[in-house]
Amino acid sequence: MPDQPTAPDRTIATDVCVVGAGPVGLLAALALGRQGWQITLLERRPQPPAGAEPKGPVAVNIVQPVTLHLLDRLGLLDRLTERAGVIPGAEIYFGGHLAARHSYAELDGCPVPHALSIRSFDLVRLLLAELADLPNATVIWDADTRALTPGTGGSSTLTVRTGETTVAVQARFVIAADGRDSTARELAGIPAEVVPSSGSYLDVVVPNPPGWNGIARAHFGTHGYLLETRRADEGLVLVWITDAATAAQVTDGPIEGLVTMLSRVVPRLADWIARHVTDWEQVRRVQHHFVHTKTWSQGNVVLVGDSAHGMHAFGGQGLNTSLQDAACLAEAVDSALRGEDASGIESYEAVRRPFIEAFQSLQVTNTQQPPAAAADEQERAPEFEVLALGQPAIRPLIADAAAFLAADTDQSRR
Ligand SMILES: Cc1cc2nc3c(=O)[nH]c(=O)nc-3n(C[C@H](O)[C@H](O)[C@H](O)COP(=O)(O)OP(=O)(O)OC[C@H]3O[C@@H](n4cnc5c(N)ncnc54)[C@H](O)[C@@H]3O)c2cc1C
Repeated sequence: MPDQPTAPDRTIATDVCVVGAGPVGLLAALALGRQGWQITLLERRPQPPAGAEPKGPVAVNIVQPVTLHLLDRLGLLDRLTERAGVIPGAEIYFGGHLAARHSYAELDGCPVPHALSIRSFDLVRLLLAELADLPNATVIWDADTRALTPGTGGSSTLTVRTGETTVAVQARFVIAADGRDSTARELAGIPAEVVPSSGSYLDVVVPNPPGWNGIARAHFGTHGYLLETRRADEGLVLVWITDAATAAQVTDGPIEGLVTMLSRVVPRLADWIARHVTDWEQVRRVQHHFVHTKTWSQGNVVLVGDSAHGMHAFGGQGLNTSLQDAACLAEAVDSALRGEDASGIESYEAVRRPFIEAFQSLQVTNTQQPPAAAADEQERAPEFEVLALGQPAIRPLIADAAAFLAADTDQSRR
């Protein structure tokens, strides 16, 4: 619960306060920190011990070439690829028939010839290591943000408890990258709805089938949507997305029901699935949420990532769009801090928001109704090119952001 501000034990004056050290907040912090701005990053979690590996199941995301290009501009792609799984292309099936075969390498203008399946943890670790090299960036761990108060001259003050200490962070810009249930968004008074998806999501990992070349396969049909793809560098993950009632017909029964359903959709893997999927304990079910906000910025507070537009995992765009947002918004915030052009943030939202809302609607279409009652399979499938390269209208902004990320740093602003 938000508190009244208390007298701070210390005060930090900073150019940009980023709330949330997930992949999106870290990318924004790194991009702006490398431009020489003073960055204060607030993270609710405690600092992970050096070299710590994640406990329990790790989050894995598919990252598309357009997003990988941004990470490449930051100098991270080679190291990220070492622990990732390469996805060279995709096949799309409607009702069991191959409808399209795509290769990233053959796609015009594709900046990286594959997608990657990455552990989110690996990306966070790389970004944190880069940020640690910047003398002008400070991370405050165990940070509990209690209040956000507009100040004079367009700045804001965040009152933060960390351990026994209260810190006042006076920031010219606040980037709220603290995820779906963003505290910074709430403290800034930006109205938001966080709506649980009525659809179902489950996934199960099996070892790499012999001879598999890493091509992802997306199957639309009476089962809903089934994706076969890499799980980082360690296996094949089968993701089944459908409406809750269709899923319950299988998940309320024995595991053999799931094996039968998966095998019907992917007959060539029937033996492999039967051999490796034997217990519901192996199956992960996830409740996704949609975030809808009235605006993505208010005054000097900017929302980015899941705090602006959390979505379902169908289509794998949550992290992709969010990292793209972080890069584009970092450039816009940089311009505004330099006093050059403060309109970049609103222009960005004007281009981005309709695409995001249409994508969220596509996700609802794929998860709300039993597949038999839903729109044609062709209408339910996102376009491969749009996933790989980003929505057409945003590509020029992303190209600018890529150049911004690669630009030499200018420490003179510190
Ligand atoms: C099962 C599943 C599969 C997915 N697959 C894909 C995929 O294939 N491709 C894709 O693009 N996306 C995918 N996504 C979506 C993607 O994971 C998210 O969109 C992405 O992680 C959002 O990043 P974020 O940094 O905005 O938020 P988060 O990752 O939620 O990070 C928020 C950070 O803020 C911190 N925080 C929270 N509250 C506070 C606070 N009050 N103060 C300070 N810090 C705070 C948190 O501890 C965390 O470090 C998937 C999601 C799920 C659940």
